[in-house]
Amino acid sequence: MLKNDQLDQWDRENFFHPSTHLAQHARGESPNRVIMTASGVHIEDRDGTRLLDAFAGLYCVNVGYGREEIAEAIADQARELAYYHSYVGHGTEASITLSKMILDRAPSNMSKVYFGLGGSDANETNVKLIWYYNNILGRPHKKKIISRWRGYHGSGLVTGSLTGLELFHKKFDLPVDQVIHTEAPYYFRRANQSQTEEQFVAHCVSELEALIEREGADTIAAFIGEPVLGTGGIVPPPEGYWAAIQAVLKKHDILLVVDEVVTGFGRLGTMFGSDHYGLEADIITIAKGLTSAYAPLSGSIIGDKVWKVLEQGTDENGPIGHGWTYSAHPIGAAAGVANLKLIDDLNLVSNAGAVGAYLNKTMAQALADHPHVGDIRGEGMLCAVEFVKDRDDRTFFDAADKIGAQVSATLLSQDKVIARAMPQGDILGFAPPFCLNKAEVDQVVAATARAVKTVLG
Ligand code: PLP
Repeated sequence: MLKNDQLDQWDRENFFHPSTHLAQHARGESPNRVIMTASGVHIEDRDGTRLLDAFAGLYCVNVGYGREEIAEAIADQARELAYYHSYVGHGTEASITLSKMILDRAPSNMSKVYFGLGGSDANETNVKLIWYYNNILGRPHKKKIISRWRGYHGSGLVTGSLTGLELFHKKFDLPVDQVIHTEAPYYFRRANQSQTEEQFVAHCVSELEALIEREGADTIAAFIGEPVLGTGGIVPPPEGYWAAIQAVLKKHDILLVVDEVVTGFGRLGTMFGSDHYGLEADIITIAKGLTSAYAPLSGSIIGDKVWKVLEQGTDENGPIGHGWTYSAHPIGAAAGVANLKLIDDLNLVSNAGAVGAYLNKTMAQALADHPHVGDIRGEGMLCAVEFVKDRDDRTFFDAADKIGAQVSATLLSQDKVIARAMPQGDILGFAPPFCLNKAEVDQVVAATARAVKTVLG
Protein backbone atom coordinates (compact mmCIF):
# COMPACT_ATOMS: atom_id res chain seq x y z
CA MET A 1 0.00 0.00 0.00
CA LEU A 2 1.33 3.39 -0.94
CA LYS A 3 1.57 6.07 1.70
CA ASN A 4 -0.20 9.10 0.31
CA ASP A 5 1.56 11.70 2.41
CA GLN A 6 3.69 14.74 1.70
CA LEU A 7 6.98 12.88 1.32
CA ASP A 8 5.44 10.40 -1.09
CA GLN A 9 4.10 13.25 -3.20
CA TRP A 10 7.42 15.16 -3.19
CA ASP A 11 9.26 12.00 -4.09
CA ARG A 12 7.10 11.33 -7.12
CA GLU A 13 7.07 14.96 -8.22
CA ASN A 14 10.74 15.79 -7.81
CA PHE A 15 13.09 12.87 -7.46
CA PHE A 16 14.66 11.18 -10.52
CA HIS A 17 15.50 7.70 -9.21
CA PRO A 18 18.21 5.64 -10.90
CA SER A 19 17.34 2.24 -12.37
CA THR A 20 13.63 2.88 -11.95
CA HIS A 21 10.60 2.70 -14.24
CA LEU A 22 10.24 6.49 -14.38
CA ALA A 23 6.72 6.67 -15.75
CA GLN A 24 5.26 4.12 -13.33
CA HIS A 25 6.98 5.79 -10.41
CA ALA A 26 5.76 9.25 -11.36
CA ARG A 27 2.22 7.92 -11.79
CA GLY A 28 2.32 6.26 -8.38
CA GLU A 29 1.95 2.77 -9.83
CA SER A 30 5.02 1.30 -8.19
CA PRO A 31 5.81 1.32 -4.48
CA ASN A 32 8.37 3.64 -2.98
CA ARG A 33 10.18 3.11 0.28
CA VAL A 34 11.73 5.77 2.46
CA ILE A 35 14.53 4.39 4.61
CA MET A 36 14.96 6.11 7.94
CA THR A 37 17.55 4.28 10.01
CA ALA A 38 19.73 1.18 10.10
CA SER A 39 21.85 -0.90 12.42
CA GLY A 40 23.93 -4.04 11.86
CA VAL A 41 22.29 -5.97 9.04
CA HIS A 42 18.87 -4.31 9.41
CA ILE A 43 17.33 -1.23 7.88
CA GLU A 44 14.08 0.39 8.96
CA ASP A 45 11.65 2.29 6.78
CA ARG A 46 9.32 5.17 7.51
CA ASP A 47 6.48 2.85 8.37
CA GLY A 48 8.61 1.29 11.10
CA THR A 49 9.13 -1.92 9.12
CA ARG A 50 12.45 -3.58 9.95
CA LEU A 51 14.10 -5.42 7.07
CA LEU A 52 17.09 -7.76 7.02
CA ASP A 53 19.29 -6.40 4.26
CA ALA A 54 20.85 -9.46 2.66
CA PHE A 55 22.25 -7.34 -0.18
CA ALA A 56 24.14 -4.78 1.96
CA GLY A 57 22.54 -1.86 0.11
CA LEU A 58 24.05 -2.45 -3.32
CA TYR A 59 26.69 -4.91 -2.09
CA CYS A 60 28.48 -2.07 -0.40
CA VAL A 61 27.68 -1.72 3.32
CA ASN A 62 30.22 -4.42 4.05
CA VAL A 63 30.85 -3.66 7.73
CA GLY A 64 27.12 -3.31 8.42
CA TYR A 65 25.08 -0.24 9.30
CA GLY A 66 25.44 2.15 12.22
CA ARG A 67 29.18 1.85 12.88
CA GLU A 68 30.05 4.60 15.37
CA GLU A 69 33.77 4.41 14.55
CA ILE A 70 33.16 5.45 10.95
CA ALA A 71 30.52 8.05 11.83
CA GLU A 72 32.92 9.62 14.34
CA ALA A 73 35.79 9.66 11.84
CA ILE A 74 33.55 11.42 9.30
CA ALA A 75 32.32 13.96 11.87
CA ASP A 76 35.86 14.66 13.12
CA GLN A 77 37.12 15.16 9.58
CA ALA A 78 34.21 17.46 8.71
CA ARG A 79 34.94 19.61 11.74
CA GLU A 80 38.68 19.71 11.24
CA LEU A 81 38.87 20.01 7.46
CA ALA A 82 35.76 19.33 5.41
CA TYR A 83 37.50 19.89 2.11
CA TYR A 84 40.67 20.62 0.38
CA HIS A 85 41.58 19.52 -3.14
CA SER A 86 44.30 17.08 -4.10
CA TYR A 87 45.52 18.84 -7.27
CA VAL A 88 49.20 19.78 -7.76
CA GLY A 89 50.54 17.76 -4.88
CA HIS A 90 48.00 18.66 -2.18
CA GLY A 91 46.73 16.03 0.20
CA THR A 92 45.33 15.42 3.65
CA GLU A 93 46.40 13.09 6.40
CA ALA A 94 43.37 10.93 5.62
CA SER A 95 44.01 10.64 1.86
CA ILE A 96 47.71 9.89 2.28
CA THR A 97 47.09 7.35 5.06
CA LEU A 98 44.37 5.66 3.04
CA SER A 99 46.61 5.33 -0.04
CA LYS A 100 49.20 3.57 2.11
CA MET A 101 46.58 1.31 3.71
CA ILE A 102 45.23 0.29 0.31
CA LEU A 103 48.67 -0.48 -1.12
CA ASP A 104 49.59 -2.45 2.00
CA ARG A 105 46.61 -4.69 1.26
CA ALA A 106 46.83 -4.81 -2.55
CA PRO A 107 48.90 -7.21 -4.69
CA SER A 108 52.62 -6.35 -4.55
CA ASN A 109 52.94 -5.03 -8.12
CA MET A 110 50.53 -2.16 -7.36
CA SER A 111 52.12 1.28 -7.19
CA LYS A 112 49.73 4.24 -6.65
CA VAL A 113 46.07 5.02 -5.95
CA TYR A 114 44.00 7.64 -7.79
CA PHE A 115 40.78 8.45 -5.93
CA GLY A 116 37.37 9.10 -7.46
CA LEU A 117 33.83 9.00 -6.13
CA GLY A 118 32.20 5.84 -7.47
CA GLY A 119 32.92 2.72 -9.47
CA SER A 120 31.77 4.26 -12.77
CA ASP A 121 34.10 7.23 -12.63
CA ALA A 122 36.99 5.00 -11.51
CA ASN A 123 36.55 2.86 -14.62
CA GLU A 124 36.30 5.99 -16.78
CA THR A 125 39.63 7.02 -15.27
CA ASN A 126 41.10 3.61 -16.06
CA VAL A 127 40.15 3.80 -19.72
CA LYS A 128 41.56 7.32 -20.07
CA LEU A 129 44.83 6.29 -18.44
CA ILE A 130 45.08 3.23 -20.69
CA TRP A 131 44.64 5.40 -23.80
CA TYR A 132 47.24 7.84 -22.47
CA TYR A 133 49.59 4.91 -21.74
CA ASN A 134 49.44 3.64 -25.30
CA ASN A 135 49.86 7.11 -26.75
CA ILE A 136 52.99 7.60 -24.65
CA LEU A 137 54.27 4.22 -25.84
CA GLY A 138 53.73 5.37 -29.45
CA ARG A 139 50.85 2.94 -30.11
CA PRO A 140 47.99 5.30 -31.00
CA HIS A 141 45.88 2.52 -32.53
CA LYS A 142 46.01 0.19 -29.52
CA LYS A 143 42.88 1.55 -27.84
CA LYS A 144 39.96 -0.91 -27.80
CA ILE A 145 38.82 -2.39 -24.53
CA ILE A 146 37.42 -5.91 -24.30
CA SER A 147 34.70 -6.52 -21.76
CA ARG A 148 32.46 -9.55 -21.20
CA TRP A 149 28.77 -9.87 -21.88
CA ARG A 150 27.08 -9.63 -18.45
CA GLY A 151 30.03 -7.73 -17.03
CA TYR A 152 29.07 -4.66 -14.98
CA HIS A 153 31.46 -1.71 -14.88
CA GLY A 154 29.24 1.33 -14.45
CA SER A 155 26.78 3.42 -16.40
CA GLY A 156 28.75 6.33 -17.84
CA LEU A 157 29.51 6.66 -21.56
CA VAL A 158 32.51 4.36 -21.72
CA THR A 159 31.66 2.41 -18.58
CA GLY A 160 28.04 1.90 -19.66
CA SER A 161 29.57 0.53 -22.87
CA LEU A 162 31.83 -1.80 -20.88
CA THR A 163 28.79 -3.04 -19.02
CA GLY A 164 27.56 -6.00 -21.02
CA LEU A 165 23.85 -5.79 -20.20
CA GLU A 166 21.35 -4.80 -22.85
CA LEU A 167 19.35 -2.46 -20.63
CA PHE A 168 22.39 -0.20 -20.21
CA HIS A 169 22.91 0.11 -23.98
CA LYS A 170 19.41 0.20 -25.46
CA LYS A 171 18.37 3.69 -26.63
CA PHE A 172 21.55 5.25 -25.22
CA ASP A 173 23.59 4.77 -28.43
CA LEU A 174 25.96 2.47 -26.57
CA PRO A 175 28.33 0.72 -26.70
CA VAL A 176 30.84 3.21 -28.12
CA ASP A 177 33.10 1.90 -30.89
CA GLN A 178 36.16 1.43 -28.69
CA VAL A 179 34.44 -1.19 -26.56
CA ILE A 180 33.99 -4.79 -27.73
CA HIS A 181 32.50 -7.76 -25.89
CA THR A 182 33.34 -11.41 -25.51
CA GLU A 183 31.71 -14.52 -24.00
CA ALA A 184 30.72 -14.44 -20.33
CA PRO A 185 32.21 -17.28 -18.23
CA TYR A 186 28.72 -18.45 -17.34
CA TYR A 187 28.88 -22.23 -17.34
CA PHE A 188 25.25 -22.75 -16.32
CA ARG A 189 24.04 -20.77 -19.35
CA ARG A 190 26.53 -22.24 -21.84
CA ALA A 191 24.97 -22.77 -25.24
CA ASN A 192 26.30 -26.30 -25.61
CA GLN A 193 24.99 -28.32 -22.70
CA SER A 194 27.22 -31.32 -23.34
CA GLN A 195 30.39 -29.25 -22.70
CA THR A 196 32.34 -30.02 -19.53
CA GLU A 197 33.57 -27.09 -17.47
CA GLU A 198 37.03 -27.57 -18.94
CA GLN A 199 35.68 -27.58 -22.49
CA PHE A 200 33.65 -24.47 -21.74
CA VAL A 201 36.77 -22.65 -20.52
CA ALA A 202 38.50 -23.67 -23.76
CA HIS A 203 35.48 -22.29 -25.64
CA CYS A 204 35.71 -18.92 -23.77
CA VAL A 205 39.41 -18.77 -24.61
CA SER A 206 38.87 -19.55 -28.27
CA GLU A 207 36.12 -16.89 -28.46
CA LEU A 208 38.56 -14.38 -27.01
CA GLU A 209 41.33 -15.47 -29.38
CA ALA A 210 38.95 -15.16 -32.34
CA LEU A 211 37.90 -11.65 -31.29
CA ILE A 212 41.52 -10.56 -30.95
CA GLU A 213 42.32 -12.09 -34.32
CA ARG A 214 39.35 -10.34 -35.96
CA GLU A 215 40.06 -6.92 -34.49
CA GLY A 216 43.88 -7.17 -34.52
CA ALA A 217 45.90 -7.31 -31.30
CA ASP A 218 47.54 -4.02 -32.23
CA THR A 219 44.12 -2.31 -31.82
CA ILE A 220 43.33 -3.79 -28.38
CA ALA A 221 44.58 -2.05 -25.27
CA ALA A 222 42.95 -3.85 -22.36
CA PHE A 223 40.57 -6.47 -21.04
CA ILE A 224 38.33 -5.64 -18.09
CA GLY A 225 36.60 -8.16 -15.84
CA GLU A 226 35.17 -8.70 -12.38
CA PRO A 227 36.73 -11.68 -10.56
CA VAL A 228 33.17 -12.97 -10.07
CA LEU A 229 30.51 -11.54 -12.41
CA GLY A 230 28.29 -9.46 -10.10
CA THR A 231 25.30 -7.58 -11.45
CA GLY A 232 25.34 -9.86 -14.51
CA GLY A 233 24.10 -12.71 -12.30
CA ILE A 234 26.60 -13.45 -9.48
CA VAL A 235 28.59 -15.99 -11.46
CA PRO A 236 31.89 -17.35 -10.17
CA PRO A 237 34.16 -18.33 -13.08
CA PRO A 238 34.65 -21.97 -13.98
CA GLU A 239 37.83 -23.63 -12.73
CA GLY A 240 40.90 -22.54 -14.69
CA TYR A 241 39.14 -19.64 -16.46
CA TRP A 242 41.29 -16.80 -15.22
CA ALA A 243 44.62 -18.56 -15.73
CA ALA A 244 43.66 -19.38 -19.32
CA ILE A 245 42.39 -15.85 -20.08
CA GLN A 246 45.47 -14.22 -18.57
CA ALA A 247 47.75 -16.33 -20.77
CA VAL A 248 45.98 -15.00 -23.89
CA LEU A 249 46.21 -11.39 -22.70
CA LYS A 250 49.92 -11.69 -21.95
CA LYS A 251 50.59 -13.20 -25.36
CA HIS A 252 48.98 -10.21 -27.08
CA ASP A 253 50.32 -7.50 -24.76
CA ILE A 254 46.82 -6.59 -23.56
CA LEU A 255 46.51 -4.96 -20.14
CA LEU A 256 44.25 -6.50 -17.50
CA VAL A 257 41.91 -4.27 -15.49
CA VAL A 258 40.41 -6.19 -12.58
CA ASP A 259 37.20 -4.55 -11.45
CA GLU A 260 37.09 -5.23 -7.71
CA VAL A 261 34.30 -2.79 -6.93
CA VAL A 262 32.26 -5.65 -5.44
CA THR A 263 35.02 -8.08 -4.49
CA GLY A 264 37.59 -5.64 -3.06
CA PHE A 265 38.22 -5.58 0.69
CA GLY A 266 36.94 -8.97 1.62
CA ARG A 267 33.73 -10.09 -0.07
CA LEU A 268 35.21 -13.36 -1.32
CA GLY A 269 36.86 -14.11 2.03
CA THR A 270 40.18 -12.74 0.77
CA MET A 271 41.25 -9.08 0.80
CA PHE A 272 40.96 -8.92 -3.00
CA GLY A 273 39.35 -11.19 -5.57
CA SER A 274 42.72 -11.00 -7.35
CA ASP A 275 44.25 -12.92 -4.42
CA HIS A 276 41.44 -15.44 -4.63
CA TYR A 277 41.87 -16.24 -8.32
CA GLY A 278 45.58 -15.50 -8.82
CA LEU A 279 44.88 -12.47 -11.01
CA GLU A 280 47.81 -10.29 -11.99
CA ALA A 281 46.14 -6.97 -12.66
CA ASP A 282 47.69 -3.92 -14.28
CA ILE A 283 44.94 -1.75 -12.78
CA ILE A 284 42.43 -2.58 -10.03
CA THR A 285 39.13 -0.73 -9.63
CA ILE A 286 37.84 -0.25 -6.09
CA ALA A 287 34.79 1.52 -4.64
CA LYS A 288 31.91 0.20 -2.52
CA GLY A 289 33.81 -1.75 0.18
CA LEU A 290 36.51 0.91 0.42
CA THR A 291 34.30 2.97 2.71
CA SER A 292 31.50 0.42 3.16
CA ALA A 293 29.46 3.20 1.50
CA TYR A 294 29.61 5.49 4.53
CA ALA A 295 30.86 8.14 2.08
CA PRO A 296 31.29 8.07 -1.70
CA LEU A 297 34.85 7.10 -2.62
CA SER A 298 36.43 4.97 -5.31
CA GLY A 299 39.92 4.31 -6.54
CA SER A 300 42.05 3.15 -9.42
CA ILE A 301 45.03 1.23 -8.13
CA ILE A 302 47.71 1.54 -10.77
CA GLY A 303 50.33 -1.18 -11.20
CA ASP A 304 54.07 -0.49 -11.65
CA LYS A 305 54.08 -1.18 -15.38
CA VAL A 306 51.43 1.45 -16.18
CA TRP A 307 52.64 3.88 -13.54
CA LYS A 308 56.15 4.10 -15.03
CA VAL A 309 54.67 5.10 -18.38
CA LEU A 310 52.39 7.70 -16.76
CA GLU A 311 55.45 9.27 -15.14
CA GLN A 312 57.23 9.24 -18.47
CA GLY A 313 54.16 10.90 -20.03
CA THR A 314 54.23 13.81 -17.61
CA ASP A 315 57.96 14.28 -18.12
CA GLU A 316 57.22 14.62 -21.82
CA ASN A 317 53.88 16.48 -21.69
CA GLY A 318 53.49 18.21 -18.36
CA PRO A 319 50.99 17.50 -15.56
CA ILE A 320 48.42 14.78 -16.15
CA GLY A 321 45.23 16.33 -17.55
CA HIS A 322 42.90 14.36 -15.32
CA GLY A 323 41.24 15.10 -11.98
CA TRP A 324 37.94 15.73 -10.22
CA THR A 325 37.24 18.48 -7.68
CA TYR A 326 36.34 15.76 -5.20
CA SER A 327 39.26 13.36 -5.92
CA ALA A 328 40.42 12.05 -2.53
CA HIS A 329 37.74 14.01 -0.70
CA PRO A 330 38.88 14.17 2.94
CA ILE A 331 35.56 12.97 4.33
CA GLY A 332 35.52 9.94 2.04
CA ALA A 333 39.17 9.26 2.86
CA ALA A 334 38.51 9.48 6.62
CA ALA A 335 35.62 7.05 6.21
CA GLY A 336 37.91 4.72 4.24
CA VAL A 337 40.62 4.74 6.91
CA ALA A 338 38.12 4.00 9.70
CA ASN A 339 36.41 1.33 7.59
CA LEU A 340 39.60 -0.58 6.74
CA LYS A 341 40.66 -0.46 10.39
CA LEU A 342 37.30 -1.86 11.44
CA ILE A 343 37.52 -4.67 8.89
CA ASP A 344 40.87 -5.67 10.42
CA ASP A 345 39.83 -5.20 14.05
CA LEU A 346 36.69 -7.30 13.68
CA ASN A 347 38.30 -9.90 11.41
CA LEU A 348 35.54 -9.32 8.91
CA VAL A 349 37.33 -10.74 5.88
CA SER A 350 37.59 -14.14 7.46
CA ASN A 351 34.01 -13.86 8.74
CA ALA A 352 32.89 -13.14 5.17
CA GLY A 353 34.66 -16.32 4.05
CA ALA A 354 33.32 -18.54 6.84
CA VAL A 355 29.74 -17.25 7.03
CA GLY A 356 29.59 -16.92 3.25
CA ALA A 357 30.49 -20.61 2.90
CA TYR A 358 27.75 -21.44 5.42
CA LEU A 359 25.24 -19.31 3.48
CA ASN A 360 26.05 -21.07 0.21
CA LYS A 361 25.93 -24.50 1.84
CA THR A 362 22.61 -24.00 3.65
CA MET A 363 21.02 -22.36 0.60
CA ALA A 364 21.99 -25.40 -1.47
CA GLN A 365 20.63 -27.78 1.20
CA ALA A 366 17.32 -25.92 1.31
CA LEU A 367 16.72 -25.44 -2.41
CA ALA A 368 18.85 -27.75 -4.53
CA ASP A 369 16.01 -30.25 -5.04
CA HIS A 370 13.37 -27.71 -5.99
CA PRO A 371 12.16 -28.45 -9.54
CA HIS A 372 12.42 -24.77 -10.55
CA VAL A 373 15.84 -24.10 -9.06
CA GLY A 374 18.45 -24.69 -11.73
CA ASP A 375 21.60 -23.43 -10.08
CA ILE A 376 22.80 -22.30 -6.67
CA ARG A 377 26.22 -20.74 -6.79
CA GLY A 378 28.44 -18.31 -5.00
CA GLU A 379 31.78 -17.51 -3.51
CA GLY A 380 32.45 -15.94 -0.13
CA MET A 381 29.64 -13.60 0.86
CA LEU A 382 27.99 -13.80 -2.57
CA CYS A 383 25.25 -16.26 -3.38
CA ALA A 384 22.75 -16.64 -6.22
CA VAL A 385 19.74 -18.84 -6.83
CA GLU A 386 18.77 -19.15 -10.49
CA PHE A 387 15.26 -20.24 -11.42
CA VAL A 388 14.41 -22.36 -14.45
CA LYS A 389 11.19 -23.44 -16.08
CA ASP A 390 12.44 -26.97 -16.52
CA ARG A 391 15.52 -28.35 -14.81
CA ASP A 392 16.09 -31.30 -17.11
CA ASP A 393 15.91 -29.33 -20.35
CA ARG A 394 17.40 -26.25 -18.67
CA THR A 395 14.75 -24.02 -20.21
CA PHE A 396 14.10 -20.59 -18.73
CA PHE A 397 10.94 -18.69 -17.85
CA ASP A 398 9.69 -15.96 -20.14
CA ALA A 399 11.27 -12.67 -18.97
CA ALA A 400 7.78 -11.14 -18.88
CA ASP A 401 6.83 -13.55 -16.06
CA LYS A 402 9.38 -11.77 -13.84
CA ILE A 403 9.88 -14.83 -11.66
CA GLY A 404 13.03 -13.47 -10.00
CA ALA A 405 11.30 -10.19 -9.17
CA GLN A 406 8.26 -12.05 -7.82
CA VAL A 407 10.38 -14.18 -5.49
CA SER A 408 12.30 -11.13 -4.29
CA ALA A 409 9.05 -9.19 -3.65
CA THR A 410 7.53 -12.16 -1.82
CA LEU A 411 10.64 -12.58 0.33
CA LEU A 412 10.33 -8.95 1.29
CA SER A 413 6.62 -8.94 2.02
CA GLN A 414 6.44 -12.33 3.78
CA ASP A 415 9.59 -12.31 5.87
CA LYS A 416 11.10 -8.82 5.57
CA VAL A 417 14.30 -10.01 3.94
CA ILE A 418 15.95 -8.07 1.12
CA ALA A 419 17.57 -10.02 -1.73
CA ARG A 420 18.05 -8.58 -5.19
CA ALA A 421 16.33 -9.73 -8.35
CA MET A 422 19.33 -9.45 -10.65
CA PRO A 423 18.59 -7.43 -13.80
CA GLN A 424 19.04 -10.10 -16.49
CA GLY A 425 17.52 -13.55 -15.92
CA ASP A 426 15.51 -14.97 -13.03
CA ILE A 427 18.29 -14.80 -10.48
CA LEU A 428 17.94 -13.98 -6.81
CA GLY A 429 21.15 -12.46 -5.47
CA PHE A 430 22.50 -12.31 -1.92
CA ALA A 431 25.47 -10.17 -0.87
CA PRO A 432 25.04 -9.52 2.85
CA PRO A 433 27.20 -7.40 5.14
CA PHE A 434 30.27 -9.30 6.38
CA CYS A 435 29.02 -9.16 9.98
CA LEU A 436 26.07 -11.45 9.20
CA ASN A 437 26.00 -14.35 11.67
CA LYS A 438 24.93 -17.96 11.20
CA ALA A 439 21.56 -17.49 12.91
CA GLU A 440 20.82 -14.68 10.45
CA VAL A 441 21.88 -16.95 7.59
CA ASP A 442 19.37 -19.55 8.80
CA GLN A 443 16.70 -16.88 8.85
CA VAL A 444 17.53 -15.71 5.31
CA VAL A 445 17.59 -19.24 3.93
CA ALA A 446 14.31 -20.29 5.58
CA ALA A 447 12.63 -17.12 4.33
CA THR A 448 13.97 -17.70 0.81
CA ALA A 449 12.72 -21.28 0.76
CA ARG A 450 9.29 -20.03 1.86
CA ALA A 451 9.22 -17.32 -0.84
CA VAL A 452 10.22 -19.82 -3.52
CA LYS A 453 7.45 -22.15 -2.37
CA THR A 454 4.89 -19.34 -2.44
CA VAL A 455 5.78 -18.28 -5.97
CA LEU A 456 6.76 -21.56 -7.60
CA GLY A 457 5.14 -24.23 -5.44
N1 PLP B 1 32.02 -2.03 -11.20
C1 PLP B 1 31.32 -2.98 -10.58
C2 PLP B 1 31.88 -4.37 -10.55
C3 PLP B 1 30.10 -2.70 -9.98
O1 PLP B 1 29.38 -3.68 -9.41
C4 PLP B 1 29.63 -1.38 -10.02
C5 PLP B 1 28.34 -1.03 -9.38
O2 PLP B 1 27.58 -1.87 -8.98
C6 PLP B 1 30.38 -0.41 -10.69
C7 PLP B 1 31.59 -0.76 -11.24
C8 PLP B 1 29.89 0.99 -10.78
O3 PLP B 1 29.96 1.60 -9.57
P1 PLP B 1 29.07 2.90 -9.23
O4 PLP B 1 27.67 2.46 -9.24
O5 PLP B 1 29.60 3.31 -7.89
O6 PLP B 1 29.37 3.90 -10.28
